[in-house]
Amino acid sequence: MGSSRPHVPEVLVTRSPAPPPGFPARPARPGPVRRGGAVPDPTVPGPAAPGPAAPGPAAPAPVRSGPGRPGPVGDAAPAAGLPRPEEVHVLVLGLDGITAAAALHLLRCGVLSLNVNDPGPVTETDLGTGAYSRGDLGRPREAALRGRLRAQDPRCAPVSGPELFPGPLLPGCLVLRGGVHDAGGRTLRPDPGDVAAPEHPLLSVHSVPGAVVRWPVVAWAHRPCPDCLRATLAAVPRAGTGRREQVLAAWARPAFGAAVAARLAAEALAVALPSLDGGRPLPGGGGPGRAEVLRPPFPAGSEPLAIDRRSCLCGLGQDLPGARG
Ligand SMILES: [Zn+2]
Repeated sequence: MGSSRPHVPEVLVTRSPAPPPGFPARPARPGPVRRGGAVPDPTVPGPAAPGPAAPGPAAPAPVRSGPGRPGPVGDAAPAAGLPRPEEVHVLVLGLDGITAAAALHLLRCGVLSLNVNDPGPVTETDLGTGAYSRGDLGRPREAALRGRLRAQDPRCAPVSGPELFPGPLLPGCLVLRGGVHDAGGRTLRPDPGDVAAPEHPLLSVHSVPGAVVRWPVVAWAHRPCPDCLRATLAAVPRAGTGRREQVLAAWARPAFGAAVAARLAAEALAVALPSLDGGRPLPGGGGPGRAEVLRPPFPAGSEPLAIDRRSCLCGLGQDLPGARG
């Protein structure tokens, strides 16, 4: 696949000329705004800080924040003038247990605009991170997750449909993609297809047996194709063979998945923030770089992984910064 994938920016820039209902009519900020040394301390509420801390029960749609809007659950009121998590829009493609849990973490952080997509059924392998329950088995993943998101925060009205996602002109947008692969790197779940705009930043993670591979953040136009994924993921080194290492990894696997999901959510915020704030990418904020392998029991220590795009026929790997195969 992929050889016929269009790579014509004009075609996709014109998609979604008018944001759909529920999304802001236009960017909150007219363009990149430089914030100098006078950045207010986010821990100190400013004079125009929102008042009520508890969300109203009858506010189902994602709404633009403004003075008087409730902030993230349990958070202190943010200082006026700073970007807010409600300005972040995330398109989630592939809802395995990790990416589904990451969506729940993003909502916990105040991201209300969540477009979650995966019509496949919830399976045993999706359980363990807390995103799905046993009662969800067999239900479409996107329907089960939408229910969880709404239950977690009534202000969230999640949708499923990439065509509803804002175009690249709106700041604060990113794509979060999860893939599930076998030990040979072959994709076990359907590819989402070419559903985002070429400019949208993509944060993707790929589960292989015993590990999770985090792909460096790239523009959607430079996302890895199945050939690149297969070649790269097949080279993931085997885990340690010590008996206790293996036992601990098996014991900790659910906690590992949950921790990877939390890390992903924080990285997604770090990817979205600069486009809202007009600044440079945050160091360590998921910018271009190498793929890395995360393993149980905990995703703190990671191993770099060389990206192999030698067999890429679709050309999407061109211009991948800092990671030429
Ligand atoms: Zn490729």
